[in-house]
Order: sequence, then structure tokens, then C-alpha cells
Amino acid sequence: MGMQKTDDEWRQALTPEQYHVLREAGTEPPFTGAYWDDHGAGVYRCAGCGAELFSSDDKFDSGTGWPSFTRPVEDERVGAREDVSHGMRRIEVVCTGCGGHLGHVFPDGPQPTGLRYCINSCSLEKAAAEAEA
Ligand code: FE
Repeated sequence: MGMQKTDDEWRQALTPEQYHVLREAGTEPPFTGAYWDDHGAGVYRCAGCGAELFSSDDKFDSGTGWPSFTRPVEDERVGAREDVSHGMRRIEVVCTGCGGHLGHVFPDGPQPTGLRYCINSCSLEKAAAEAEA
């Protein structure tokens, strides 16, 4: 399972910014990405492998400048691991489909989970919800 690519293949498949975030655990500057202020309905897929990761149903305005969610669409779509870089102790969130870095999760989100998945816009590609018939 999962999508495995060589480093060269990832460099060709992704934009430089996507590569930096997804493959080098970079962080886009706040208030710059496509989705922090996006409020339309839809599903946010992994920009690396296309897996459905987050839904607009679980998105909330965190004020941080990054798109923020209370949970992924399915728990197993994302993995978590400790990240002690930059002098902080944080929980990194990765796509289980391709291993790409998505962002971090913090225990200060709203109900119902109390979690804040703080995700880089450029690690996501949104598909708008289909119109109801
Ligand atoms: Fe992925």
C-alpha cells in the first residue's frame, strides 16, 4: 500500500513549495496558502498521492493563517510522530498514503475532538463538493 516514489520523481511531480513541505517537512508562511481562508464545502486531498484527508465539515477558523481541522476524514489516513525540531516538542502529522508531511496537531482545538490539525495549504488539493441534485 501507499505510494512510493524516488526523490527525483517527487521533485518532478510536485511544485518546489509542495516538495519543501511534503518531502522536507517545511512550513509555508501563515496567511499565504490557498486554503486558510477558504470556506467552501469540499474534500481536501493529499497533494502528494490524492488520498482524501480532510473535509470542510471539520474545518474551523483557528486564526493561525493555516487551514485547521478538528480531525481527518478517517483516523488511519494520517499518522502522527513526535517532532522536536526548532526547539519545540510537537506532534507532526503525515499522510499515511505517501508519507508526506502535512503539518502538526495540537491539543487546543474546539470540540468535538479538542484537537487542532494545523495543515499547510500546499500539501492539500481541494475538490469542491458536488452540487446536490
Ligand atoms: Fe499522500
